Amino acid sequence: MKLDILHTTFKQGQKPRFFSEYLRQKRGFFLGFLVFHSSLGYIGSPTSGKNMAVDVLAIASHPDDLELSCGGTIAKLVKEGRSVAMADATQGELGTRGTKEIRAKEAEQAAKTLGAGTRRNLLIPDGSVEANPENLQKVITLIRELQPKILLIPHSIDRHPDHFHTHQLCKEAWFFSGLAKFETKKEGRPQKAFRPDNYFEFMQWYEFQPSFIVDISDTWDIKLEAIRQHSSQFHDPKSKEPETRLSRPEFLELVEVRARNYGRRIGVKFAEPFFSYIPIGIKSVFDLVMNKG
Ligand SMILES: [Zn+2]
Repeated sequence: MKLDILHTTFKQGQKPRFFSEYLRQKRGFFLGFLVFHSSLGYIGSPTSGKNMAVDVLAIASHPDDLELSCGGTIAKLVKEGRSVAMADATQGELGTRGTKEIRAKEAEQAAKTLGAGTRRNLLIPDGSVEANPENLQKVITLIRELQPKILLIPHSIDRHPDHFHTHQLCKEAWFFSGLAKFETKKEGRPQKAFRPDNYFEFMQWYEFQPSFIVDISDTWDIKLEAIRQHSSQFHDPKSKEPETRLSRPEFLELVEVRARNYGRRIGVKFAEPFFSYIPIGIKSVFDLVMNKG
């Protein structure tokens, strides 16, 4: 089965910690470099055959969702030396403002701003995300190719139907990716079963009681810059496109209010909340030292 997935890969922003990581990064860089010279924008996968494993794969429905919901955490993971891949289920073509071509360019720039090494688009029609066999093939193929330890996915309850359908799609893909008899192929070659250790859910429109909150004080500026890369979606006084909730001037203030509010709850300036259905294990009670109650 041929999969329709758009690919973008660029140099990872983090320093390698081990020699094996160094080699892995160099391989990704050189292959990415070769492909970038042959094409602009979305490009063919430079990782045919061998896998280019990442630490984290973040998947959302629309091209600006990840920046708004967990952009600070992505930038922070990259700062910590982790490799992060981003994937958008749809091209956001139902959005009131912008076009899918404009949004693809914005998404690519935003991923570079956050330091994510790869951004893919699964080309599922906007407004029609569902956990069907075709879409499961797409997500499982991506998971098995990138072999992330952790998935970041939407929460199970939200305002936009694509968001909770993407949650369901990713949750099912997480499980089935570990079953050897669920067959997928990457460029004609069978893939091995691989299931990430865990998945965590980020917050979008609706709020939930977080399972944990990530301090993003030192990457807040990067998150904001990545959001602003999606200039077709947010406030632009010169734009002649119809106003939406997102394009109102106060929308970015609301994004800041939320980040400050969750920051306040753990005693830092800015933070992003996450949900986990399973309990979070810790090695030491002192891992909780930030939580002063
Ligand atoms: Zn969305």
